[in-house]
Amino acid sequence: MMKQHDLRDWAQRQKKCHDFLLHGSKIIKDGWWQLNCDLNLRYPPEFTIEDEVSKNRFYLFIEKYWLLQQLVIAIPLYLLGGIPWLVWGISVRVVISVGGHWLIGYFAHNHGQRTWTVEGAAVQGHNIRIAGFLSMGEAWHNNHHAYPGSAMLGLYKDEPDPGWWVLNALHNLGVVKNVKLPKDLPHRSELVAEATDLERRVERVPEECEIANFIGRNT
Ligand SMILES: [Zn+2]
Repeated sequence: MMKQHDLRDWAQRQKKCHDFLLHGSKIIKDGWWQLNCDLNLRYPPEFTIEDEVSKNRFYLFIEKYWLLQQLVIAIPLYLLGGIPWLVWGISVRVVISVGGHWLIGYFAHNHGQRTWTVEGAAVQGHNIRIAGFLSMGEAWHNNHHAYPGSAMLGLYKDEPDPGWWVLNALHNLGVVKNVKLPKDLPHRSELVAEATDLERRVERVPEECEIANFIGRNT
């Protein structure tokens, strides 16, 4: 999964990039490509994942047995409601999740608000306000293109980012460490502000999480 994501992000930052990797075709063709086709490169770029990730047994388990992991919820669903619950709870859920992920990816590279422009990149990311919450923050995609290494995607208070809320709570609990934010990343000379109201926006900052503090106090 990391290989696929990082190859795509790297390709999108180049001057030229194939339509497959930048969602550059019409929506039907892009949907067919992204949901049904594999990308086989004759000369694939070298891709090295650091040992602490590539040898992490939890990540390896998640990657290798993702299909079997469905059984953990499939069995209770079948016992509770039979085939209809199984179909809705597994098949329909997976189709909606995978299809929704592609659809947001398509729109986030073609339509929507832009706070920054990354000069020289083959494609720009766009923020899709309506999908920011539902996509756990992924739809703040212009922010992601501007600061690809940032754990926070909704960078301003009016950009809801549930993924960040969870990370913030886990950070408060001490479970997550070395969280990177835009201010921790190297300066990018190719990054140019496109929005004219940046001074008026209220930046999101790491916060004390009441629930995490409560759990921390009682454990
Ligand atoms: Zn992107």
